[in-house]
Amino acid sequence: MDDPRPAGSRTLATVKTVGWIAGALLAGALIAIVVVDRKVHLADTGSDSLVPWWMFVAWSLLFYALYWVGFRYLVQTLRRHDAASQRLIRDLTEANENLELAQTLGRTGTWTAIRDGPITWTGSAAQLIGLEPSKTRITPEAFIALIHPDDRKRALSAYLHALRTRGTLALDLRMQPPDGGLRWVSIRGAVAEDRSRIAGTIVDVTRQMHAHERLVATEHQFRILFDDNPMAFCVYDATTLEILEINKAVVQQFGYSREELIGVPISAMAIPEQRSAVAEEVEAYAGKPQMAPRIWSAQRKDGSIRELRIHATAIRFHGRDAWLILAEDVTEQLARQRELAYRATYDPVTGLLNGRAVADALQAQEDQPWRLAYIQLRGLELIEDSLGQAVGTRVMQRMARRLERLGYEYGEVGHLRPEEFVLAVRDPARWDQALRELREELSRSVSGAGSRQQLEAWIGTARFPDDHPDAMEAIHLAGLAAHLGRAEGHAMVAFEPSMSHKAGHRLRMAARMHRALDNCEFQLHFQQIRDLRNGRTTGLEALVRWPQPEGGFIPPADFIGVAEDTGLIVPLGRWVLQEAVRAYQSLVAAGHEGLSIAINVSQVQFLKTDLLRDFDEVFRAHALPRGALHVELTESILMTRPEQARALLAQLQERGVCISLDDFGTGFSSMAYLHHLPIDAMKIDRAFVRHVHVDRRNASICQALLQLGHGLSLTVVAEGVEEQAEYDWLRDHQCDKAQGYCIARPAPLEKILDSLEP
Ligand code: C2E
Ligand code: CA
Ligand code: CA
Repeated sequence: MDDPRPAGSRTLATVKTVGWIAGALLAGALIAIVVVDRKVHLADTGSDSLVPWWMFVAWSLLFYALYWVGFRYLVQTLRRHDAASQRLIRDLTEANENLELAQTLGRTGTWTAIRDGPITWTGSAAQLIGLEPSKTRITPEAFIALIHPDDRKRALSAYLHALRTRGTLALDLRMQPPDGGLRWVSIRGAVAEDRSRIAGTIVDVTRQMHAHERLVATEHQFRILFDDNPMAFCVYDATTLEILEINKAVVQQFGYSREELIGVPISAMAIPEQRSAVAEEVEAYAGKPQMAPRIWSAQRKDGSIRELRIHATAIRFHGRDAWLILAEDVTEQLARQRELAYRATYDPVTGLLNGRAVADALQAQEDQPWRLAYIQLRGLELIEDSLGQAVGTRVMQRMARRLERLGYEYGEVGHLRPEEFVLAVRDPARWDQALRELREELSRSVSGAGSRQQLEAWIGTARFPDDHPDAMEAIHLAGLAAHLGRAEGHAMVAFEPSMSHKAGHRLRMAARMHRALDNCEFQLHFQQIRDLRNGRTTGLEALVRWPQPEGGFIPPADFIGVAEDTGLIVPLGRWVLQEAVRAYQSLVAAGHEGLSIAINVSQVQFLKTDLLRDFDEVFRAHALPRGALHVELTESILMTRPEQARALLAQLQERGVCISLDDFGTGFSSMAYLHHLPIDAMKIDRAFVRHVHVDRRNASICQALLQLGHGLSLTVVAEGVEEQAEYDWLRDHQCDKAQGYCIARPAPLEKILDSLEP
């Protein structure tokens, strides 16, 4: 059985045993010596008188006592040593255990390879390559077998090299332990002076290697992300602001090489006038994790400027504080945005503010009373149709420049729709003056395509915020006034609350007209035109009627304007033309071959519809003699578009259509242009015919008009003749024809046919 006590304790016990035995033996020996010596002495001398025996005993006792003192000292010294050695052993064991533990935990171990002998290592070293901790000795062959085949050659040559050069060994190897799996170990060692062995450490670096691999993979991915990213990336030093890295996109987009940019301050990428601002911005973000996105204007190598939206994040780059910036090229996007913002505020053709922008400007100064003039032009579309869009645009731009001046002078001006503008006057005291100037500007012809173009204009006025607290609505109210003014033939109208009702009424009427046209509710009445020389009916004027279910008619004056506004005038006009032709044929069938039919053509119809084509269709379908159809036009049509009117009228005349100038004297006709126009007749408006026999003013006007008409070889027709006296006066003053209630009221054709002389 093994003695469980430590070696020191065992020695002490042995010494103690030996000491006791030696003590006992010594005591026995002393006693024996004393006894023997006594006997010898007594035998020799027979007396003990020479040296007293007790002296001898005393010396023996003293010697014996000295022995025990020495023995005790020895035992105590041994005990102390034993305790110290036990402490040391304990400490060493503990330290060893700790070291083992530390090595196991730290996945490290120590080893020694004896030249041409086995390799010994610590248990932790055995463990970390997958062997039992007790297997602390291994042959070099067995060790090599544990190395990954790809690393064996490298390991061996490093080992031999270290031995040969007596240098150090530093190896990172893959080990294939018997338990499977793969482990990375880092072996470090040094060769002994006599080259008899190499000793060193072995550390499991699998985790670090994996982390490294991951790092390498991440780095690789980052490289791909950074380098091959189509967006421009750049890294610059947070302190020196120098560019540390750029990606390929930067090179491609800005034309500089990598070498040209690395080391350059980031602010140098900006255009010169922005550089100091960029540097300040960048510095202001020092220590912050991110920069708010911002726009920098950067200059490319070729000098062109790109607008960049910068997104920047603080990073660590090769151990330095740096910023990673992503530069998004937003040049086109910004240009588009600017364009949109411009469009949202300005009219792209005239460059004037648009309606919304004017309204916003007014709303921002709503404590100030504004007067608004809504200008509705007419004629631009026609210029475009006949002379081309470019001319139309030029004319509109010129008009816009005039209005712009007024806007600058009096407040604001805006362009709302192609032919609609608004002038907002800030100071009510200057309103009249502004209006005067506005009307003057509008009445002046505008040059375009070598000739001067006259535009018609209607003005509606309103007050902001008095008429409406919303500026846009107030502008609309002024527009409504202009619109109604135009429909009613007034060049300038101020908004009144009743107009809103009127506008609603017009809208409802438009809807009803649609239905009426679909349901053929319209009728055509005719009014006779009489020759004053012989008293015979020479023709009929077709007048449209819209009968109502509750009886009576809506007068044409009430719905023609709505029809014009809504475009319904086109189908209505065609229907009138066809009915007129039917009436003509009925007249012929009834034996009244010589009677003509006059149809009224409104301004919109004349200017905007293809009148000629409608007539051509009629002539193709029906063989009508020359003079069978008359067209009645008002002067204003001819004034607005003299050139176009002339051409169209000439073409109508060519086809045998006679032209009458309706409501003559009410417009702004100038005699100068009359003789240029292909006209056959002029109709003196009822306003001048009224009481002509007693009204001296009307009489002189009628005389002048008769003279003018005859001077131009025109047939003169008097309209609205209600009284016989008027009729007589006209006949006596050589008026050619007359029309009016005193001759006949407008009536359906059947009635007319009944009343006509056979
Ligand atoms: P307008 O061409 O001047 O037509 C003459 C108007 O005077 C007609 O009014 C007629 O009924 C009215 N009238 C005739 N004799 C007298 C009279 O002795 N005294 C009075 N006070 N009035 C008389 P109506 O039918 O109400 O037509 C009004 C206007 O409507 C027309 O004026 C014409 O401009 C327009 N109109 C009528 N029918 C058509 C049409 O088919 N197409 C177009 N575009 N306009 C039409
Ligand atoms: Ca007429
Ligand atoms: Ca008339």
